[in-house]
Order: sequence, then structure tokens, then C-alpha cells
Amino acid sequence: MQTVIYWFRRDLRIEDHAGLAAALATGAQVVPVYVVDPAANPGGDVPATRTVMWRGLHALDAALQAQGSRLICRRGDPAGIIPDLVRATGAGAVFALRKQGAYFAARDAQVATALAALGAQWHLLDDDTIVPADALRTKTGGPYTVFTPFAKQWLAYLRAQEPGEVLVPLARLRLVPALRDLPSTVAAAFGAAGEAADARLPAFAVSTEAAQARLAAFTGQGDDPNQAPIARYQQQRDLPAVDGTSRLSLHLAWGTLSARAAYLAALGAARGCNDDGRAGCRAWVTELAWRDFYHHILDHAPYAERSAYQTQYATLAWEGEAAHFAAWAAGRTGYPIVDAAMRQISTTGWMHNRARMIVASFLVKDLLLNWQLGETYFAQRLIDHDVASNNGGWQWSASTGTDPQPYFRIFNPTSQGEKFDAQGDYVRRWVPELARVPARAIHAPWQLGNAERSALCPDYPPPIVDHATQRQRALALFQAARTAPKA
Ligand SMILES: Cc1cc2nc3c(=O)[nH]c(=O)nc-3n(C[C@H](O)[C@H](O)[C@H](O)COP(=O)(O)OP(=O)(O)OC[C@H]3O[C@@H](n4cnc5c(N)ncnc54)[C@H](O)[C@@H]3O)c2cc1C
Repeated sequence: MQTVIYWFRRDLRIEDHAGLAAALATGAQVVPVYVVDPAANPGGDVPATRTVMWRGLHALDAALQAQGSRLICRRGDPAGIIPDLVRATGAGAVFALRKQGAYFAARDAQVATALAALGAQWHLLDDDTIVPADALRTKTGGPYTVFTPFAKQWLAYLRAQEPGEVLVPLARLRLVPALRDLPSTVAAAFGAAGEAADARLPAFAVSTEAAQARLAAFTGQGDDPNQAPIARYQQQRDLPAVDGTSRLSLHLAWGTLSARAAYLAALGAARGCNDDGRAGCRAWVTELAWRDFYHHILDHAPYAERSAYQTQYATLAWEGEAAHFAAWAAGRTGYPIVDAAMRQISTTGWMHNRARMIVASFLVKDLLLNWQLGETYFAQRLIDHDVASNNGGWQWSASTGTDPQPYFRIFNPTSQGEKFDAQGDYVRRWVPELARVPARAIHAPWQLGNAERSALCPDYPPPIVDHATQRQRALALFQAARTAPKA
């Protein structure tokens, strides 16, 4: 019987899956493979990624076993391992989904060359985004570089295409004689270190069941959609103290849920909603469009992964201090909302989107540090790390990216806190030193008198920089780069 390999990467599911469906459609027996590649994460072989992978791969293996198959899991460089498995199984083809990012592209090119030398076919399919990267073009034929017109076309495309779930003929996974001689398990691929989880990370599941349960709870499947969180998303999405967003980013980043399924669930919810609820559904779908946008951007401008998207800012003369980076990372900057957010990411591996924007702006515009330091730090900590969304988010905040707002958009960490965490609930949750500070001073504890400060928050540091001063310095820094003679 003919054999093909399906190589799972950031698509840890067996349902609604264009790549697996294509492999099974060949009629060959499919060998499901995952390669634990310690070099794949830009942050390195880090506990957050290892933890997610360990949980996600066990869940994927269990899902495959329930279908009479199982996951072949190896550790190392896929450029050697995938051709080895082709030789061992006699596979005539390898199928996989394309993932944005320079590392993945280079790795895939190496695998493609090795497979060609073996006479095996290489099928790389697009199923990571809701709309494929090459589907949208401006009137002049170029890719979209500004979000608002992109989102308009993106919605028009989806209205015309009406995507549906990709059905996977799972029964065919049972044809598995080729798996008998391949004893590689998930546990073996992780070696003696095992899960080596970050003990501080909460117990979240990385499985399709967990993703679908979260999606159902968020979109109100089975209940009145007007009461579902998605219907209130517009009002609550910017409040980091409120559990008002979907928290599906982990699942979308690791593919335990397809982005298409998220979009279809939002459409379903909108149908049952009143006008207010529909506005919530629309706002949430716009976030899915941001995800596609950043993935498409990296496709069209791969250089942005390593450098400023706006090339005039590629050589900004950063003036910041290493000690300030350490204070930022430790959540000890003296700006409560920044510190709360940085402690949230350290403790949970996740950070609210508003908080991500605030800490990113602070690192770049207040501490005058290179956004790439923050991008790497996030890559090392986030359980939902995604190369394109992380790069896009950092470059947007740093004003080096696609944001059409000029460089002078600088978040004031105090007024951001007052606006989006008015009572200070988010700050008090993550910064216990400020638990007794009243709401009037929670975002600017330095304004308390000496006596009150010593009584209420003696252990909380004063601000490490003065926002007004740093704002002027940031403006000068960007201005210098804009007016520098072109090399
Ligand atoms: C500096 C910075 C770094 C970021 N790094 C990442 C990252 O590594 N991985 C990641 O998935 N998101 C990243 N984001 C985007 C966003 O913060 C998260 O997707 C969101 O907070 C995840 O929470 P949620 O699932 O509850 O989102 P929801 O508000 O429920 O949104 C639904 C989904 O839409 C997508 N989405 C939402 N906002 C954005 C956005 N601004 N850009 C791209 N996609 C978005 C996500 O897949 C998300 O799960 C970053 C944003 C910034 C400002």
C-alpha cells in the first residue's frame, strides 16, 4: 500500500484541517509526524513553548489513537528527520501546512530539496489564515499595507467565498501498518527533561476539546448569544481586569482550533444577536482580520521579521539602558499598569492585548529600547507566541510597522491605566505591593505624600524614568531617523 507522511507543525488538530484532508485524499496510508525542533522558536527551547508542545502533542496523539492511528514524534532537525522517515516508510509524499516566518521558510526549503533528491513529493498547503495571503490585492495589484482597507476587502472576500469546515475523512487514518516499526513517542522526543514545564504556568489544556469548549463558551453556542461574552466584546475588550476576550490565542497559535472555525462561530453567534450583540461579533471578527493581516504582511515583507517594516527606522539609535530592560521584565518600573502586565505574562504566559500595547509602547518610547528586545522577550514567555502577530504587534507599538499613525503616538502609562483600569483592579491583582493604595492614586502612587506612601506601599519603587522627559527624547530619536540622509 502506498504511504504518505503528514507533518504536523502549528496545526495540532485532526478536524477541519486542509492539510490532513489532502494527505488522506490521496488514498494512501498516512503516517502522522511531529518533529520537536528546539531551534524553531525565536526565543529558544523555552519552558513556555515546551509546556504547550508537551500538552498539545499528547492531546494530538490521543486524538489520533482514538482513530486507530498514532503520532510519530521525533526530536531534532526536521531537515534530517523528515527525509529519514521518508526512507524508513517508503513514503511517496510529505504534506504540511505553511507557516509564516524566516526560520520555517528556510527549514521547509531544506526539506523540499532533500525530498526532491529522494524522489518524494512535497505538498505545502495554506490553511493557517482564514483568507490565503495571495487572495487579496489592491487596485494596483500590490499587497495591502494598511489595515482598514485590508479589512474591508477581507470581509468582502469572505462574503463572496462563504468558507465552510474542511471535512477530514478520519476513518482512513486507521490504515496504519507503516506505523508498527516506528516506535517514536512524544515522551521519548522530549527526553529525560520530560515536560519540564514552567511550574508557574496555570494548568491549561492544549487540545481541540479545550479550544472548542472555550469557543462555545465565548460565542454562546447552545444558549442565547446576546448573553455570550462575544456580544459584550466591544465594551469589554479593552479592560484588562475583565475576562472579556476569548483567550483563544493559544489555540489559534498552535492550531488546536482553525481560524476558520473561530470565524464561522462568530458568524453563527451574530445571526442570533440583536444590534448590540452583532457589534460585539463584528469587533471580534475584526481581531481575526488583524491576525490574517499580520500573517499576510510577513508573507509579502519577510524582511520585517528581522528589521523595521518602515525601513527608515531600521537604524534608530536606541539610547536606553540595560538596567531599565531588567526592571521592565521584572515588573519593577514604578508604573503600576506596566508592572501589572509584566507580572501577568511571567505568571501566566499570557497578557491582555491592551496591556501588551502599553508595555510595548513603554519599552520603546519611554525606555528608548529596541522593540526587538521586547519581541524576543515575549517569544520566550507567551504560550500564544506567534511570529507574525508578535512581530506585527511590536512594530505597531514601536511605530516602525504598518500603523499609518505617525511616530508620535506615544502611550502615557498613567492615563492608559486610568482609562482602562479605572478602579485599579488589574493593578492590585498583579502588584500586591499596591493592594492598599486607593483608586485615586493607584496609577500614580508617587503622587501620594511621603507619609501615605510609606504607610500604603513602602516596597513599591518610584518611576524609573519621567514620562514627559522620555516622550521628548523619543520624538527626537524618531525625528533624527526620519531626517537622516539615506545611505
Ligand atoms: C506587542 C504585542 C505582541 C503580541 N504578540 C502576540 C502573539 O505572539 N501571539 C498572538 O496570538 N497575538 C499577539 N498579539 C495580539 C493580541 O494581543 C493577542 O492575540 C490577544 O491578546 C490574545 O487574546 P485573546 O485570544 O483573548 O484575543 P481576542 O481579543 O479574543 O481576539 C481573538 C483572536 O484574534 C487574534 N488577535 C486579536 N488581536 C490581535 C492583534 N492585535 N494582532 C493579531 N491577532 C490578534 C488572536 O488570534 C486572538 O486569539 C500581540 C499584540 C501586541 C500589541
